[in-house]
Formats: sequence, C-alpha cells, structure tokens
Amino acid sequence: MALIPFDDRDGSIWLDGALVPWREAKVHVLSHGLHYASAVFEGERAYGGTIFRLDAHTKRLIESGALLDFKLPFTAEQIMAACNQVVAANGEPDAYVRPIAWRGPEQLSVSAEATKIHLAIASWPWPNLFGDDRMKGVRLDVADWKRPHPETAPTAAKAAGLYMIGTMAKHKAAQRGFEDAILMDWKGDVAEGTGENVFFVMDGELHTPTPICFLNGITRRTVISLAKHQQIKVVERTIARAEMAKATEVFVTGTAAEITPVGAIGDLTFTPGRITETVMRDYDELIHQSPAQVNQRAPI
Ligand code: PMP
Repeated sequence: MALIPFDDRDGSIWLDGALVPWREAKVHVLSHGLHYASAVFEGERAYGGTIFRLDAHTKRLIESGALLDFKLPFTAEQIMAACNQVVAANGEPDAYVRPIAWRGPEQLSVSAEATKIHLAIASWPWPNLFGDDRMKGVRLDVADWKRPHPETAPTAAKAAGLYMIGTMAKHKAAQRGFEDAILMDWKGDVAEGTGENVFFVMDGELHTPTPICFLNGITRRTVISLAKHQQIKVVERTIARAEMAKATEVFVTGTAAEITPVGAIGDLTFTPGRITETVMRDYDELIHQSPAQVNQRAPI
C-alpha cells in the first residue's frame, strides 16, 4: 500500500477546541515543541467506533504533560469527548487516534513558561502495525541504543523526545533485515520494543520487565489482567539479556502492535504457543466489548 503523506489527506482534525479541515491543521515553525521536544502524545485505537480504554489513555496524556511541567488546557472529559468527536467525524469506526499536546511559539528558549499549550487530535485507519503476517512472528534486532535511566529522561511520559531512540533503533533494525528492535536498559537488562512492551513465556509463566525506565503500557496492563484471569502466573522482574534464550514464547504488546508474536530476537528463534494464543484470543474479544465490560473483565 502506497504511503499517503500525512499532510496530503482529507478529513477532520480537532485543534485547540474545534474540528478543522485536515489540510488546515498547521503549526508555526518556531513552535517550542518542534525545537525542544516539549510535546506529549497518545496512541489509541477505536474498534467499532469505541475507543479502547480511552479513560486510561486520557489520564496518561494529562500525566505525561505534567511530567514535562505543563498543564493541558482541557479537562479529561473534554479531551475524551474530542477524541470521540474526531473518530465520528472521520467516519472510520476502526481507527488509530493520535492526540498530541505541545508548547507553542510564544517563547523560544529553554525556558518556556510563556508558551501556550496546544492540543490536536487526529484519527486515521491503521491496521495492525505488523500487518497480516504478524502470526508468523516478528523478527527483532537487539538495538545498540539503550533505554535511559529514569533520572536522565522523563521515561514514564509518552514524550515525543524519547522516540528519537526508537526511530534510530528501528532504522538500524531495518538495515539489518529485522522488522523491529528490542532495547535493553542502561544496565543492559531487557527493557521494551520501540513502541511495545515485551513478554516472555518461561516455565509456563509470563515474565515481563518491571516498567522502571519505559511506559507501563495500557496493553501491557490489560494483558497482565487477562493472564491472571486465566490463572497464568505473571512475574514482573528484572530480566537479564542472556535469559531471553530460556523463553519458549515471546510476544510484544502495544496499542498499534496489539499483541504480536515474536519469531526471533537476534539469533534466537521462538514459535508462538498456547499462552500467546490464549492471551491474543482474550484480547481480541475484549477490544470489542463496551468500556464497562472492559473495566469489569480486565481491571488495570
Ligand atoms: N512503549 C513504547 C515506547 C510505546 O510507544 C508504547 C505505545 N504507546 C508502548 C510501550 C505500549 O503502550 P500502550 O500499550 O499503552 O500502547
């Protein structure tokens, strides 16, 4: 499928309080967010017109802004209503939804107290990140880049600046013939994918790194909840790089990737098995349920 540039599309984008035509949703080149990465965003998915865990995504957006020392000029209720409005206006009930908040051009220096906070929300159809082939299992490169220590970057925020690491790791992975990359943390232990959390099946249990220097993903928390419901033991702990060889199944989780089996990490190979299939099946059921059913069946 040919990639249509994102500024050459039609539809509606919600910008600072109202829907505007897609092509008119522009920012000034001297925006603080562009120069100093003072921007936070979300990635959400609507299934059948309902945005999955919109409350959790909205909460994280507001908290990400607070970590970057800014307050969104809208309430959670207003942001949620705006997300729903965008999905309805664009007429695609199965869509990816991208809210982004950033500092404007009023002040351009490291200090940014005089900047205004802007919020835009777009939506567009985006099938699974890894496409129809995902059941074969994605192949992950072990990135040279590391996730930083939580005292050296706001790692709990979905902050735009942190994604430079992911983009560099993902480009290197593509050059080396892989579909994505897995990053170790600053100590050399397993952290996460470029836009996904990671789970390993070890001795019939699910093991996943403790989210100290990366997002405690909404999909990750949902999977932990679903697995516990299935009496699958979940262990959150430090996972050394060498331990990955002991895993019998591996999968990654994220809003864009949903639950995607991993076929290889570097030279190691894995085959999706019973636990991956169970969790995928439960997740596929859950995403089509109402928000109340989701919260009841898989509290996070
Ligand atoms: N880590 C990174 C770096 C991500 O970009 C994402 C996607 N937001 C995740 C993990 C998974 O988060 P979620 O399940 O909330 O989408």
